[in-house]
Amino acid sequence: MYLALFGIAVILTAVAVVSAVTDSAQRVVRQELQASGEVYGQIWASRSAQLRQGAAILAHDYGFREAVATNDEATVRSALDNLRARQGVDGALIMGVDGYATASGLGVDDGALDTLYNGLGSGDVDAGVLAIGDQSYQVVAAPVMAPVLIGWVVFIERLDAAQMQTLERLSAIPLSATLSRGGALTEGPALVDGPEGRTMRLERALPSFDTDAPATLVLSYPLKRALKPYDTLFLALAVIALIGVLGVASGAWMLARSVTRPISDLDQAVHRIQEGDYAEAAVDSNDEIGRLASSFNAMVGDLRDREARLTHMALHDQETGLPNRLALEREIARAGSWVILIGVDRFGVVRNAIGYDSMAVVLAALGQRIAAELSGAQVARIGPALGVSVEAATAEEALAIATDLIEKVQAPVRIEGATVDVTLTAGVAPRDAAKAELASPIDRAAIAVDQARADHRSVALFDRSAYGDPSGNLSLISELMSALARGEVSLAYQPKFDFRADRINGVEALMRWSHPERGFVSPDLFIGMAEETGHIRPLTEWAVRRAIDDQIALAEAGHDLAMSVNISGRLLSDESFADFALEEARRAVGGLCFEITETAVMSNPETALRIVERFSEAGIRVSLDDYGSGLSSLAYLKQIRADELKIDKAFIMGLDQSSRDALLVKSTIDLAHGLGLRIVAEGVETETALVLLRGMGCDMAQGYFIGRPMPLAALTEMLQPAAKTAPTRRPRTAA
Ligand code: C2E
Ligand code: CA
Ligand code: CA
Repeated sequence: MYLALFGIAVILTAVAVVSAVTDSAQRVVRQELQASGEVYGQIWASRSAQLRQGAAILAHDYGFREAVATNDEATVRSALDNLRARQGVDGALIMGVDGYATASGLGVDDGALDTLYNGLGSGDVDAGVLAIGDQSYQVVAAPVMAPVLIGWVVFIERLDAAQMQTLERLSAIPLSATLSRGGALTEGPALVDGPEGRTMRLERALPSFDTDAPATLVLSYPLKRALKPYDTLFLALAVIALIGVLGVASGAWMLARSVTRPISDLDQAVHRIQEGDYAEAAVDSNDEIGRLASSFNAMVGDLRDREARLTHMALHDQETGLPNRLALEREIARAGSWVILIGVDRFGVVRNAIGYDSMAVVLAALGQRIAAELSGAQVARIGPALGVSVEAATAEEALAIATDLIEKVQAPVRIEGATVDVTLTAGVAPRDAAKAELASPIDRAAIAVDQARADHRSVALFDRSAYGDPSGNLSLISELMSALARGEVSLAYQPKFDFRADRINGVEALMRWSHPERGFVSPDLFIGMAEETGHIRPLTEWAVRRAIDDQIALAEAGHDLAMSVNISGRLLSDESFADFALEEARRAVGGLCFEITETAVMSNPETALRIVERFSEAGIRVSLDDYGSGLSSLAYLKQIRADELKIDKAFIMGLDQSSRDALLVKSTIDLAHGLGLRIVAEGVETETALVLLRGMGCDMAQGYFIGRPMPLAALTEMLQPAAKTAPTRRPRTAA
């Protein structure tokens, strides 16, 4: 752009200079031509005057006049010759008024004589140009009077090249002068196209005898010649312009090199960074741009380091330094068709024992072992477990890899001289799964770990059917509350048989939900979910209220039955629920019993024990449900003020097959009696079991053999034939 601007300036200057120079040259030439024309006019006039004077001398000569008048041709001729020689003119002649002419020096043709005679006869011209043959002549005449006009003395002088050259010499400029016949075409100097290009020409009319072909002096000067002296100026100008253009060009180039190019390099480097390529800008100069580039490069270096650190942080677990879940997800997407998750059993317990830092060391060590076993595979930390992506053709192969891994990796870890024992459980899940399934294979593998632990196995494959459909269950919970209001939830009653009284004297209330679309929904599912999502309290309050209502109804029908209601262990930390329950209990018309699962009691012992105490004081029996299924503790049995112990149905259902179960049941019955507790066996499905239990001294039995959970109407029906209970409202305990 600079170059173009400079070029335009140079061109404009050149045009201005050239036109100014040309203008002034033209002006000079014009003035010179005019001056030369003027000079020629004066030359012409003075020569005419000179010739006229000579001719007049002869015309006034008495002898000559007489000779003319007498037609003395010899005398006339000699006088003419004489004067011609004296005056130095080319020719002279005497022209009579009759048109007869006597010439001296020059042969004048008849045509020229006619023209001359006509011109003189008209009286208009006495001096002018006359063409004789091809030659032009200056002709001057003087009248001969005797005393009347008898003729003219005429002097003729050749207008030749020499005369023109004199004129050319007289001029300050080397113009060329010529004489032409045909008359002037223009007034004043004008530019015309000549053989030497543009030419300045001045035409000046000369007096002429021939009016048809007047004579013209033509002065011309080609401009080219006028401009010749300026050629060196123009050349110098061109050279200066060229030098200037070259200078500007090299300046612009240097500017581009030192400023523009490095800046555009930097700009490109910035664009590359936007695309994630941390390339440095290649600029090495010592000026501001160079310093800018090196600061820029330093910044790029910092950015690169920072991004690397961020990426590392984003993909690694801070505690163990192992890759994290995100890293494993990427690895899974990249390679491997199966995911193996290896969980540390009782992670929380071990961590509480050895501390968080040591647990991180244990995990890192296990991660390294797994990586070594799988020849450097990426092992990620997923919470209390370690995950890897492996390649296997079949589920069996993947399970074999997992089993093998556990065997090889499961060895005590040494930390600061101490050893920590770890047991591991592995979950295996395929990378690709059906659409409706859990999105992440890592989650599927984690569930497989839980499934393995639940089955007391060290390795398990993710079992979709066992997992159910948690997303569907979530919506189930929101429906449960409205289901309660719509009356879709009801209570079923399962009879409790008393061995000593030899009759049914109690029932357990069990919740039922028949969903309009799903049909029967297992209480194990919806009760568990209501507990997890905080909805258990309204559900339980409804159950307590309904059970007591039904107990009253049964009593009115003549059946005095102890009513057992299941109370979620979670509610044993809720004093206000206890207030509600105690208030409700006052409406009960017979024994009221709350069944509580023992594990729930242990999780929040202090409050739970106090609430159980309050229940007992109010005359509500407390039954410890599912005894034997959890981690039963004798200390807890001793501590809690319970009235009843329910042996878990898992033992009862195997009673007639396993002598070990029989032994456990027998010793549990003895233990309970020893502690002053009544014992109930649930899950009595056969007569054999009932007989065995009676033999063992069990107090009560409950199970499908005695009666399935049934609606209130069915229960009334069932009790009818054997209805023998007294229609009394109190006492609270069954007779
Ligand atoms: P649970 O308290 O142990 O109740 C006994 C379960 O054993 C009932 O299952 C009952 O139908 C079943 N059962 C009874 N006799 C037999 C038998 O001879 N053989 C077999 N195989 N099973 C038998 P259900 O009704 O499915 O209830 C499951 C669990 O849901 C209950 O276990 C209890 O923990 C909970 N639950 C039920 N209703 C309520 C409730 O109103 N509130 C609370 N908190 N939990 C409830
Ligand atoms: Ca129960
Ligand atoms: Ca039970």
